[in-house]
Amino acid sequence: MKTENVDVLVIGAGPAGTVAASMINKAGYKVKIVEKEKFPRFVIGESLLPRVMDHLDEAGLLEGVKAAGFQEKFGAKFVRGHEVCDFNFSQQFSKGWKWTWQVPRGQFDQILATEVQKMGIEVNFQTAVTDIKFSGTDSTTTIVDKDGVESTVNAKFIVDASGYGRVIPRMFGLDEPSNLGVRKTHFTHFRDLKRPEGIDGNRITVVVHQQRTWIWIIPFSNGVTSVGFVGDPEFFLDHPDNPIERMKSIIATDMHTAERFKDAEMMFEPRTIEGYSISTKQLFGEGYVLCGNATEFLDPVFSSGVTFAMESGNKAGKLVGEMLGGRNIDWQKEYTDYMMQGINTFRTYVSGWYDGKLHSIFFAEKQMEDVKEKICSVLAGYVWDMENPYVNNHEESVRKLARVLEIDKILAEG
Ligand code: FAD
Repeated sequence: MKTENVDVLVIGAGPAGTVAASMINKAGYKVKIVEKEKFPRFVIGESLLPRVMDHLDEAGLLEGVKAAGFQEKFGAKFVRGHEVCDFNFSQQFSKGWKWTWQVPRGQFDQILATEVQKMGIEVNFQTAVTDIKFSGTDSTTTIVDKDGVESTVNAKFIVDASGYGRVIPRMFGLDEPSNLGVRKTHFTHFRDLKRPEGIDGNRITVVVHQQRTWIWIIPFSNGVTSVGFVGDPEFFLDHPDNPIERMKSIIATDMHTAERFKDAEMMFEPRTIEGYSISTKQLFGEGYVLCGNATEFLDPVFSSGVTFAMESGNKAGKLVGEMLGGRNIDWQKEYTDYMMQGINTFRTYVSGWYDGKLHSIFFAEKQMEDVKEKICSVLAGYVWDMENPYVNNHEESVRKLARVLEIDKILAEG
């Protein structure tokens, strides 16, 4: 059996894996990516946050993505019936990027993989990890290519960026249930011939459909728009089982989708995912670190997934480089605590979305601009800016603000 030696093996060529590999490569170490699928492959997660621009830039991936002409995204619009709450990334508290993109992920991830290949990083597509044996921090990983040929890779360290594949968490029993509720989603891409005129037609819109059910509408620059419904599993019981009929039936129930997508062509049979929120017992261990969705996935509502994938890929990649250079890394403090700061901030906002606190804030009659700018920075992904009270004291800030606005509303209604 063929055996090869690398400094670092990265599992998965999504945003987490490509950013991590680029950072390790920059540090001067031999890194190889193994990717189970043939690219381009479909994955959901199409709305980015401005924070990813920092990571694309630092990893040397920004110019390649820019050349693709993806739909630019300057903010996020939340609607409930006729009520509108508009966040504009140019009006935010934290210093950072004021825009990003809405991307079909097959094409986006393909570009990331091509760019890292151009840097000299080897990417083995259609090659799956099937077994890992650790001996201290060293490891021997068994991989199988598309023809069923097995080989092994010896590495000094592994970055598991296998997303929903969760290679190391599954292999070593690290999966843990999320403390967020079980939710379900049904989505497809539509050929969007009835886009509203002007800027509104290209903007991401998040629609409150019912208190705990919402819709994403994410237009791409190629005239296709991603539409997905997310809610408690019971919500979907009122609609047909057949995926196409179910989608038609649900879009007919909301004023923001009924007319626009009524006769629109679906680019693929709508897909359903249930129970996607997941956590893990630990983010690192002897010889490995977990990145992106292989760690914890919260919820799609604030489009934080790719941001966490890249933030963790960037952080882990740098730390691995420093560790191989001889620095003693405190992985708990420098990696887990750091990542959990951001993840827990978003957790507060996700919980607040489903329990209604954020609806009270977003759709309040009185909008306080200074507060809105701070929340806008959270929604832009700047959840490590400890100057922002809506980051460093996220739970209390959100709870208190919602309470004040709810009392205001009661008083106004007499
Ligand atoms: P991935 O992008 O999943 O990449 C992991 C790669 O690892 C895959 O290519 C896979 O083939 C490979 N792999 C798996 N197993 C193996 C193996 N055994 N061997 C080798 N390779 C392997 N995020 C956003 O930022 N914005 C959104 O709008 C958004 N919407 C979402 C909507 C829904 C309904 C859901 C469920 C998620 C959404 N997300 C969104 C989250 C987003 O999908 C993920 O957070 C993101 O794709 C994670 O990137 P990653 O690099 O960790 O993993």
